[in-house]
Amino acid sequence: MIHNISNRDKVNKKLTQSDLDKIVILNTIRKSSLPLTRTKIAQITGIRLPRITHYVKNLICDGFIIEDIPQQKSNKEPRKNIPLKINGQKGFVIGIELHPDWISGVLVDLAGNLVKKTTKKPDLSKGTNYIIDMLIGTINEIGEGYILPEKKILKIGISDPGLVDIKKGISIFSTIIDGWENIPLGDIISEKFKIPVIIESAPRAKAWAEKCIGAGKDVNNLIFIEYGPGIGAGIIMDGKLFYGTQYTAGEFGHTYIKENRQPCTCGASGCLESLVSTAAIIKHVRSSIEEGTVSSVSELVDGDLNNITFEVILKAAKMKDKLCMNHLDEIGEYIGIGIANLVNLFNPEMIMFDNQLAQIDNFLITTIENIVKRRALSQATKSLKFEVSNIGTEKGALGVSVLVLDQIFKTADGWERSVCKNV
Ligand SMILES: [Zn+2]
Repeated sequence: MIHNISNRDKVNKKLTQSDLDKIVILNTIRKSSLPLTRTKIAQITGIRLPRITHYVKNLICDGFIIEDIPQQKSNKEPRKNIPLKINGQKGFVIGIELHPDWISGVLVDLAGNLVKKTTKKPDLSKGTNYIIDMLIGTINEIGEGYILPEKKILKIGISDPGLVDIKKGISIFSTIIDGWENIPLGDIISEKFKIPVIIESAPRAKAWAEKCIGAGKDVNNLIFIEYGPGIGAGIIMDGKLFYGTQYTAGEFGHTYIKENRQPCTCGASGCLESLVSTAAIIKHVRSSIEEGTVSSVSELVDGDLNNITFEVILKAAKMKDKLCMNHLDEIGEYIGIGIANLVNLFNPEMIMFDNQLAQIDNFLITTIENIVKRRALSQATKSLKFEVSNIGTEKGALGVSVLVLDQIFKTADGWERSVCKNV
């Protein structure tokens, strides 16, 4: 039964040869932009047509695939010529993103269609239990009508803003949410809903969203740059997410750029994140004003420096406030330097920018591109493309839901295999 499979023992399930053939068939159909006939699947996979016909019969009986043909035609068409597609209604997955500024949730069907979405604003100062309750509330809302009594949710994925242990489902540490440390989020959510859960880092989930459903489709070497209160990178190399030994690959915000008066939240100093993340810029502007620098920000917050937000700083910069303009200039410069280093190290085909970064200033992306082209090796930037993401605030939730679907289709996790075994 699907609901007894924990997020850790799925890899131990033994797959039979027929399971493996069915996985190949399902993934071939899933990855195709158009429905495929049995003959076409045989051509693509190299599996003989009679075997395809047999397994397709099983998969139709189990409800994983459906024939894509108008009812009136179904009796006239030879079976092998009838197009097949994934039956979205067979099951659903939930993707959630915990972001410092929002919690978003999506319900996606087995065919990858977005069914439902929601976004909430969290108050992170209320502590970890509050955040966990909000995540649970979002899952309840998004899964309403799908969780009980139907029990059709196959798996849940959560995109986390910090370091994660994807094997154990633990949120290890976040530099931007106080107290978000060593939380066994996978087990907590899994025990609550009796559904398997995976945890993924936000930049990786977002990079995967861009690769699978965004402007990075068909790009095998892509780096997604996340920008906000934290800075991170999701790295895709040779078509796969790059994790590193302890899953810390992509901690772009904690690469060294320049000595800095204020230490970074990671404990080091001079990190990119401590220089130009939105949280760092708020801190820098506040301390400069406290030290006597004149800025229109003081008026905009009625003298209460605790009310400085990044939006206020953007507003002041538009009013030609020097302090704020200087800090915003630094975003382009330092992120540009950091990306030039990434380009020399990884030689990606595409750099994908978070839309939050592009929204700061119309010229920011061009400034970054120019710095990268100036600093990185010319051979490495020869065919490098720069893109701005066009997926909205549900990007992390969508990305992790695609990862969940990948896992379901790759491992047969959650399949009701026994139902039609002898068809
Ligand atoms: Zn750091």
